[in-house]
Amino acid sequence: METPKKDIRALSKQQLRDFFTSQGDQSFRGNQVYEWLWSKGAHTFEDMTNLSKATRLMLQEHFVINHIQVDQMQKSDDGTVKNAVRLHDGLVVESVLIPTETRTTACVSSQVGCSLDCNFCATARLKRMRNLEPGEIYDQVVAIDKESRLYYNHPLSNIVFMGMGEPLMNYNNVIKAIEMITSEEGLGMSPKRITVSTSGIPKMIRKMADDEVKFKLAVSLHCAVEEIRNQIMPFSKNFPLTELREALQYWYQKTKSKVTYEYVVWKGINDTKVCIDALVKFCKQVPCKVNLIEYNPIDDGEFQQASQVSIEAYIDALEANGIVAKVRRSRGKDIDAACGQLANKEA
Ligand code: SAH
Repeated sequence: METPKKDIRALSKQQLRDFFTSQGDQSFRGNQVYEWLWSKGAHTFEDMTNLSKATRLMLQEHFVINHIQVDQMQKSDDGTVKNAVRLHDGLVVESVLIPTETRTTACVSSQVGCSLDCNFCATARLKRMRNLEPGEIYDQVVAIDKESRLYYNHPLSNIVFMGMGEPLMNYNNVIKAIEMITSEEGLGMSPKRITVSTSGIPKMIRKMADDEVKFKLAVSLHCAVEEIRNQIMPFSKNFPLTELREALQYWYQKTKSKVTYEYVVWKGINDTKVCIDALVKFCKQVPCKVNLIEYNPIDDGEFQQASQVSIEAYIDALEANGIVAKVRRSRGKDIDAACGQLANKEA
């Protein structure tokens, strides 16, 4: 059987240069191809017009370009755009463009499905099929940047890794994608405009700190009472809150970058004084802010958004303790593009 061709975007610039030398060609061709692949976003070797026909054919014999294809685009009444992103093997992930008056945020996926099992999240029901390649993450960002320019007349301003998947379970590829997004050969975006959101994997948070990454960190906390968190996010039984807290302290020590906690308040689950007190206490351990996210119903109603009064009780308690708390309204709910709703319904 013929071995499958390798995705050329898995090669670094140096590896591409070496490849050309090994073919008896000049190494600068590697730079040219690299530029086509990343700065110019070529989908095919045919597009690489400053290479000879023979060189393009030679590349085609050895490699493929596993570019994504935006299959379908839905636009919400509030301007949010959801892309169904088809991958080279036919699998589909989703990414979302979220516009405000002054900026556009891309919400991108890091895995097909998700390795974790949060009970309130639609993506968790898909199970993890595979990790996304760096190029597949990068392409989602490029696609949204184009849409942002087209529909909103300005380039993409921010990126959040809050689509499908757990980015820290696909750490190396997420890091490679961010390197391309931030490099001058890629999109040249500032890492300060990128947020990686994790359900809280202590070992990987420490690794990020050791790697001195420059992007921001968000943690889906949802509850600072261990038993309740374990119930709604069962995987977290393996990661006690003490370990998470210590990892976050380590992160702050190394990076001096505040952590954002994402937090949904549910009726009858975490709308109690005990939970509020636990959150305040947890927040005092590491410099942070709290985003109270509106719940986006995904099913039969096991989870329900708590009352306004409960949410205000959270805000009052956090603010009384000097902790910044914001309520985040959902965007794109009508097209199932809001947090926790990405589940390839149309695919
Ligand atoms: N796995 C990462 C990245 C996904 S981010 C993480 O957990 O952080 C998606 C965010 O939406 C997370 O904060 C998640 O907890 C939240 N979320 C999931 N389901 C939701 C729902 N139904 N309504 C509102 N937020 C939800």
